[in-house]
Amino acid sequence: MSTTILASSRIAVLGYGSQGRAHAQNLRDSGLDVVVGLRKNGPSWQKAKAEGFAVAEPAEAVKGADLVAVLVPDMVQPALYEQAIAPNLKPNGALLFAHGFNIHFKQIAPRADIDVIMVAPKGPGALVRTEYERGRGVPDIWAVHQDVSDHAEDKALAYADGIGGARAMLIKTTFKEETETDLFGEQAVLCGGASSLVQAGFETLVEAGYQPEIAYYEVFHELKLIVDLFYEGGIAKMLKYVSETAQYGDFVSGPRVIDAGVKARMKDVLTDIQNGTFARNWTAEYKAGLPNYNKFKQADLDHPLEQVGAKLRARMTWLQGDAPVAAAPQKKQAVG
Ligand code: NAD
Ligand code: MG
Repeated sequence: MSTTILASSRIAVLGYGSQGRAHAQNLRDSGLDVVVGLRKNGPSWQKAKAEGFAVAEPAEAVKGADLVAVLVPDMVQPALYEQAIAPNLKPNGALLFAHGFNIHFKQIAPRADIDVIMVAPKGPGALVRTEYERGRGVPDIWAVHQDVSDHAEDKALAYADGIGGARAMLIKTTFKEETETDLFGEQAVLCGGASSLVQAGFETLVEAGYQPEIAYYEVFHELKLIVDLFYEGGIAKMLKYVSETAQYGDFVSGPRVIDAGVKARMKDVLTDIQNGTFARNWTAEYKAGLPNYNKFKQADLDHPLEQVGAKLRARMTWLQGDAPVAAAPQKKQAVG
């Protein structure tokens, strides 16, 4: 694998957040020509400049670029495409995404004379950068939606090489598969499933008269230990490191809680993603100014789990100082 096809190309990275900063820095260190596209009064302009990049307004950055990486928030991308990208990207240029939402759900109808590709790292931007600096990389999944130059695949692979993903592992996917599985994961298991599971466990203990502080430790805090074991060595490693009592309880009670009814409702969630219901509701919510989103968020923040958690975490000295790198699953950000 190599970055050869991009060797004399100019790459415009739009956005300098979690992914944008990591991609821009890795591509530059791979010897590629990078310009960062940002709003002049936006929060990242000074930062990208201070870190040595050529920075321009998005429309200016796109002019003269051969590949445009769209690394601004997903809900911002359609307007940015209309205003800055569509009028300025050269024919046969490439439009690259790190998440397929807007293409798959047709929030962006890309011009017919450009390549449309995806390279999505399977980790947060901070890890994409630190692994690259160590001479390693974070695996990427990649896809081609539209190939007009006859080199769309080569461009995606070269970009994946440039950000370090090819050092680890590349998996070919489609915009449809990446988008649907990503949304399902964050909704049913990672963000939605996990937070609802711990809230229900916490409420069960507190309603039964146990102290909230004890409940916090048992159903929330210790989840990290279990997830770390999953991450390092699968369910096998978790089983190896917990007691026989915990294993037996897992076997007999896990399926009572997460039963066929839960799986049936997971299938409903997946159906709503596949048939576009979720995307339609979310874009309408965003355009309406996030009325329900803000209500739902406040309810999470007001949950007693959060009140007691803030108090307990203030005494966890090892959490003070630098904020731990959020291994957010790809908000899709760690979950993206
Ligand atoms: P982010 O929120 O961390 O950063 C967004 C950046 O865009 C910031 O620099 C912000 O200043 C800039 N920005 C916002 N509005 C803008 C505008 N109108 N014009 C120009 N710049 C603007 O975003 P992120 O988490 O890096 O996500 C970027 C893309 O990467 C998304 O498609 C996301 O789904 C995808 N993704 C993210 C992760 C992750 O770990 N965060 C992982 C895989 C894929
Ligand atoms: Mg996601």
